[in-house]
Amino acid sequence: MKLLSVIVPCFNEQEAMPIFYNEIVKVADTMKECVDFEVIFVDDGSRDNTLLVARELNDKDKRIKYISFSRNFGKESAIYAGLEQAKGDYIAIMDVDLQDPPKLLVDMYRGIVNEEYDCIATRRVSRKGEPPIRSFFARRFYSLINKISKTEIVDGARDYRLMTKQMVDSILELKEYNRFSKGIFSWVGYKTKWLEYENVERVAGETKWSFWKLFIYSLEGIIAFSTVPLAMASVFGMIFCLAAFVIICFVVAKTLIFGDPVAGYPSLICAITFIGGIQLFCIGILGQYLSKTYLETKQRPIYIAKERSLD
Ligand code: UDP
Ligand code: MG
Repeated sequence: MKLLSVIVPCFNEQEAMPIFYNEIVKVADTMKECVDFEVIFVDDGSRDNTLLVARELNDKDKRIKYISFSRNFGKESAIYAGLEQAKGDYIAIMDVDLQDPPKLLVDMYRGIVNEEYDCIATRRVSRKGEPPIRSFFARRFYSLINKISKTEIVDGARDYRLMTKQMVDSILELKEYNRFSKGIFSWVGYKTKWLEYENVERVAGETKWSFWKLFIYSLEGIIAFSTVPLAMASVFGMIFCLAAFVIICFVVAKTLIFGDPVAGYPSLICAITFIGGIQLFCIGILGQYLSKTYLETKQRPIYIAKERSLD
């Protein structure tokens, strides 16, 4: 019998976990003829009783496993840890808040087994229930990153997906410290089918993503999957050289024809501050890439596990 692993990153999710457990067990029951289940809760340094709940579920049901981190490493690290730990022939990643409907697993499984896909991924078609500004910036982010990156980042793509062991092994080969999963999944390739569903609100607890966190995350995505911003400094440089050339010609001609009355203090200040701003902006971009490179060269572990369930 084949095994299906479900990886569930959890950060302060004590309320949602029992509800999730009930739902996933139902799905496991409907699929018990064709596949066995294992569920791996990755406690991402929660400050509530997430770990206790995971231990209890593990006592009650041996299909439930868990890993607990020494601190909060972020969802990307939790996904990596789960993928490493998973023993399944098929491996799914799912949120604990039931925003990723567990019932879809049945269709996903069929897609992989019957239609020979390597991966069945999901995307939200609507952003219902999300603050409008957030949706607006999310859309802008996706259109920007797809213009400047060779790796396709699908708008509305969730982390919810079912993959073959082979694809997961490829993902695990990408050991980078700054992990942007949406890009990594797409980068490794393989045949992917997209299922679509309406946005669902979470069952319990609250979202862990503030607007600021999302903003930083989007920068990480851009830095990890595009080097276009680095080239921007050169482009700005060329534009300004051209502009400077034109202005010099103009000033020389003007001085020759009309003489040199001292004037133009305001325009000078404007030019200095503008160019100063552009320079700082470009140095900032350099700094972003440099800091990411710096972190990569340290080769720190992606996560530190403090406790694992026994097999
Ligand atoms: N999560 C995590 N570590 C974090 C933040 C979130 O493991 O630092 C988990 C969280 O417990 C949930 C999933 O990632 O299972 C998605 O988080 P959330 O529902 O807050 O994000 P949203 O659905 O609002 O994008
Ligand atoms: Mg959620």
